[in-house]
Amino acid sequence: MNHFPIFLSVADRAIAVAGGGEIALAKLRLILKTRARVAVFSPAPEPEVAALAEAGRIALYRRAFGPGDAVGAVLVYAATGDAEADAWVAAIGRAEGAMVNVVDNLEASDFITPAIVDRDPVVVAIGTEGAAPVLARQVKAGVEALLPPTTGVLARIGKAFRPQAEALPQGAARRAFWADYYDEVGPRALADGGEKAVAEALDALLARHLARKAAPGHVDLVGAGPGDPELLTLKARRALDRADVVIHDRLVSPAILDLARREALVIDAGKEGFGPHMPQAAINALMVDHAARGAHVVRLKSGDPGVFGRLDDELEALEAAGIGWTIVPGITAASAAAATIGQGLTRRGRNRALRFLTGHDVQGFADQDWRGLAQPGAVAAIYMGKRAARFLQGRLMMHGAAADTPVTVVENVSRPDQRVIGCRLAALPEVTAGLTGPAVLLYGLAPRAAEAHLPQVQEALS
Ligand code: SAH
Repeated sequence: MNHFPIFLSVADRAIAVAGGGEIALAKLRLILKTRARVAVFSPAPEPEVAALAEAGRIALYRRAFGPGDAVGAVLVYAATGDAEADAWVAAIGRAEGAMVNVVDNLEASDFITPAIVDRDPVVVAIGTEGAAPVLARQVKAGVEALLPPTTGVLARIGKAFRPQAEALPQGAARRAFWADYYDEVGPRALADGGEKAVAEALDALLARHLARKAAPGHVDLVGAGPGDPELLTLKARRALDRADVVIHDRLVSPAILDLARREALVIDAGKEGFGPHMPQAAINALMVDHAARGAHVVRLKSGDPGVFGRLDDELEALEAAGIGWTIVPGITAASAAAATIGQGLTRRGRNRALRFLTGHDVQGFADQDWRGLAQPGAVAAIYMGKRAARFLQGRLMMHGAAADTPVTVVENVSRPDQRVIGCRLAALPEVTAGLTGPAVLLYGLAPRAAEAHLPQVQEALS
């Protein structure tokens, strides 16, 4: 990030604009949304600029910008349309202590003006550091669709109500009140009865919340999916939005952690594979402690919490402590990996059963129904199978599996660094040896034959 986004206080402060043509007008339309004092310098302003002066919205100086004109100004816009003149304006602006924007000249500017979605007092600023104005427009359209025009009205009424809402204890109770207001009560009252109805609904809502007993803590055991934030469920997204505490596994991707409520306490309970990890008992204690103090805890696990996720241990600990819980299922690595290679996990005439296996468990390499797995057409999704690859291969072949049984290794499923390697059982240990990311082995499945729409598949046939 080369530009740090901030919201600058400009009420009753001066902004100088050098230029009175179309370029200057485009900026003026934005600047005039604020309560800044705006001075425009132009020997030959467009009629629209002159009209703004007549309406008292700007001070218009019918001459070129010159020394002294930026004194006391916070911002200066060089918008003359002439590169040389703009450079002169910028030099004066800086010398006189203002931050300067040279329109359409990123390098020469101290700041840039973002695209704006205005739902005053809610304002969304969108910047691409000059890389992609078209994309900024698309994002803006998306945000506009997300924030109906009533957002601003609700925020304005809500802001005025903040002193009353302070009757609720700070923290979860007050947040729950505002969440109810913005999610449901506010929009409904506004639609049914306009602004007056919103004020009444706020009074009633506050009375309801004041009558509530302090909500007990709760733990959501949430599946984060394999890594792509778009593979989160809406429920998972909502839980992250509301979390006071997020306790996550190492495999949960940073892009997903970014979605947690900004004030949430985020704790890494990394316990991947053989690496250093927090003991299960310590994780259980963390969840219980925070929930017992009334927090909304999100226990965030990669994939589906019910697949090789020590779910039962955690549920038992919560139940023993009398803490309520909810499970939010997620997309398990096997489902996402199968989708990536264009195959079903089951298929008529091939496999009527699907096994989810772990390559190793607490005792070491895990024993399995090798005879069943060695049958032609058998399909299994093997988790934590990288280090067990040689063991798996040996056991399977010893029980009659063909050396050319297809296996597809999918590493970092759904993440930007995803890799798909199609191989045969005979080559499996070599193929898995060099992997550094989490990988799921799809035993019995080959990537759908070299079809153009699949991601690049590495072949490691032997
Ligand atoms: N609950 C998780 C599994 C946790 S066990 C789920 O449902 O997916 C950890 C194992 O899951 C890893 O060793 C790896 O085999 C698999 N895994 C998790 N995330 C993965 C990813 N993004 N890509 C490939 N495999 C993944």
